Amino acid sequence: MSNSFLELATQGIQKLTPYQPGKSVDELERELGISNSIKLASNENPLGPSALALSAIEENASSINYYPEGGYALSNKLALLHQVDPANITLGNGSNEILELVTRAFLTPQHSAVFSEYSFAVYPIVVQAVGAKAHVAKALPEDHETMPLGHDPDALLAQVDDSTRIIFIANPNNPTGTWLTPDALENLFSRIAQDVIIVLDLAYTEYMDDDVKPPLSKWLQQFPNLVVTQTFSKVYALAGLRIGYSISNPEIADILNRVRQPFNTNSLAQAAAIASLDDEEHVINSVSINNAGKAYLQHAFSEMGLRYLPTMGNFISVNVEQDGVALYQRLLQQGVIVRPVANYSMPEYLRITIGTQQQNERFIETLRQCL
Ligand SMILES: *Cc1c(COP(=O)(O)O)cnc(C)c1O
Repeated sequence: MSNSFLELATQGIQKLTPYQPGKSVDELERELGISNSIKLASNENPLGPSALALSAIEENASSINYYPEGGYALSNKLALLHQVDPANITLGNGSNEILELVTRAFLTPQHSAVFSEYSFAVYPIVVQAVGAKAHVAKALPEDHETMPLGHDPDALLAQVDDSTRIIFIANPNNPTGTWLTPDALENLFSRIAQDVIIVLDLAYTEYMDDDVKPPLSKWLQQFPNLVVTQTFSKVYALAGLRIGYSISNPEIADILNRVRQPFNTNSLAQAAAIASLDDEEHVINSVSINNAGKAYLQHAFSEMGLRYLPTMGNFISVNVEQDGVALYQRLLQQGVIVRPVANYSMPEYLRITIGTQQQNERFIETLRQCL
């Protein structure tokens, strides 16, 4: 017997740091014995799920003794929505699962994946878990005129070498909120060799202004190495059910299907996702409240003399010019949960999920007190 079980774990896993989720309201209130807390920490939709989704869950609840079906109905609906064939769709237990499936399918310890500084925390975790190398590209500088801390296409390309099998691009990116224009993305994709899988993570795409929304069906035809991931966790407000998907060419979808678990998405999640797609009004309403909240927060930050990063998501990262974790803790004492991003090498930033107007006002008021 060796000294510890950790020594028995694979090399990649030995060096892994687990993902830290945002604190929940229940957890905070239990710890501090307070009530009326608000959580603006995990980019969840503050309006809650669609009423249609809730009815679908109720209707399907009595059938959970059966294994879920393979996602035929949901895949078909998504295929219609995106003007692709159902064979292009892979369902995941959250889009996070798809990110993991791609690394398991394409990376070994001899391979590398490329992503940017300040990009989504799950990329380094899934790459490390299979023992592959991470090639991290420099982001744009903090004093960049239009896109501070944004992805730099040239820097990303420079990290691609013969060992590279995957490049991850989040658009908009979390936690920065920054994005690349469709032209910039298309130009970048056209310079990437076809034996490198491009994972384009569009978790927040519904929140983007129309003029920067990616032309997906065109790109999927143009770039056979493109895997687009999307989720029901953000604007569709089903984060707790864990359901997401990818759109890719059928050959890649077939590969992802080989590595996924037989019943990776559950029946209630599938039913709720289908119903949510029918509630366009809920999406429109959520985006419009988000846009109003974004303008409110940006205005308030400017008034306080705080710089913030441009965002196309349902969150905004603000430079608080002091230790973000300490400020986060003072906000917690007042029942306001936001997200410190020191783990992203952004120690002076806080990431705020855009809430309802009432939540945003409560946050700003509390922030003024705590600064
Ligand atoms: C929230 C988020 C996701 C979604 O994850 P799910 O597993 O679908 O809940 C994916 N990518 C990014 C960049 C995110 O911020």
